[in-house]
Amino acid sequence: MPWCPQCGAEFRKGFRECNTCHIPLIDHPPTEEERRAARPQKNTRFWNRERLMHILRALIAVLLALAAAMVLAGK
Ligand SMILES: [Zn+2]
Repeated sequence: MPWCPQCGAEFRKGFRECNTCHIPLIDHPPTEEERRAARPQKNTRFWNRERLMHILRALIAVLLALAAAMVLAGK
């Protein structure tokens, strides 16, 4: 029986590609390692969500520091 190495689905004989993941099937149940290898690479885009959140947090920290400095300077 062919199996999808990414989602682990089992297919009927004759199938060559997972119809969900569109990757070639293997002839045994995928091991954890094979599933990891077949998984699409994460964080390959430059502007991914994690990076944006990181920049946003840095910006907020800078703005807070600036606001604090202005308050202190105004006293
Ligand atoms: Zn699949």
